[in-house]
Amino acid sequence: LKQQLEQQNSLNAIGQMAASIAHEIRNPMTSLKGFIELLKINSTEDGYKYLNVMDSEIHRMEKILSEFLYLSKPKERSFEKLSIAQIVDEVIELMLPHAVHHNVILRSDYHDNQSTLIFGNDNRLKQMLINLVKNAIEAMPNGGQITITLENKDSYIQLSVKDEGAGITELEQSNLFKPFYTTKETGTGLGLALVKKVVEEHNGSISVESTVGMGTTFIINLPFCEQNLQTQDEEELINYWTNR
Ligand code: ADP
Ligand code: MG
Repeated sequence: LKQQLEQQNSLNAIGQMAASIAHEIRNPMTSLKGFIELLKINSTEDGYKYLNVMDSEIHRMEKILSEFLYLSKPKERSFEKLSIAQIVDEVIELMLPHAVHHNVILRSDYHDNQSTLIFGNDNRLKQMLINLVKNAIEAMPNGGQITITLENKDSYIQLSVKDEGAGITELEQSNLFKPFYTTKETGTGLGLALVKKVVEEHNGSISVESTVGMGTTFIINLPFCEQNLQTQDEEELINYWTNR
C-alpha cells in the first residue's frame, strides 16, 4: 500500500509539473501569434499561406493546452445537491445554436416528475455533457438527432447521450477514453478522458454502445443523492463526498 501511495504521489507530482509547463507555454505562444500577424502585413501570397498554417497550428496547440489544463485540475472537492435534469436543460440551451448550425436536432427525453437529484459539481457535469454533445455533433457531418435521456434505476440515475452518427468499431472502443486518442484531423483526444474523469469524481460509471453506420450511445450511471447514503443530512453528505 505504501508503495502504491508513493507511486500515486509521484504521478501527481508529474501531473502538476506538466500542468505548470503547459501554463508557461501559453505566454510565448501569445507573442508568436502577434508576430505572425505582423508578418502577414508585408508577406507574399505564398508567405501568407504558410503564416495561416502557422496560425491554425498554434490554435491547435492552444486547444490541447487548455483541455490538458482542465484535465489535470485536482480532483473536484466542491459538491452540492443538484438536479441533473436542470444541468441537461442548461447544456441543451447552451449547445442549441451550435447544433442547429450543424443540422443537428438536440432534444431531451425524460419525465418531469422524475427524481433527478444527485450530489455533484455543476461546472464539471456541464463540461462533461458538453464534450459528449460536441462529439455527437462531430460524428454526424450530415446532421441528425441527438437525444439526451434520463432514467431512474434502482440506486442511480442513468444519463445517456445517443447520436445517429458514424458509430465506433469495437477496436476503437477500447481506446476511446485514453488521453490523446483521436481519429479526427484537428482533434485533441482529451474530451472523453475528461468525461471519464468527471464520471469517476462523481462515483459513477460510463459505458458505450455503438453500431457502425447506425450511431453511438454513451451511458453514464450516477448514484442518487438520497439512496447513496441513508441520510438526508447535508453536512454528512458533504463529508462523505469530500473524504472519499
Ligand atoms: P476528440 O473529439 O478531440 O477526437 P475525444 O476524446 O472527445 O477526442 O474523442 C476521442 C475519439 O472517440 C474521437 O476522435 C472519435 O473517434 C471517437 N468518438 C467520440 N465520440 C464519438 C461519437 N459520438 N461517435 C463516434 N465516435 C466518437
Ligand atoms: Mg471530443
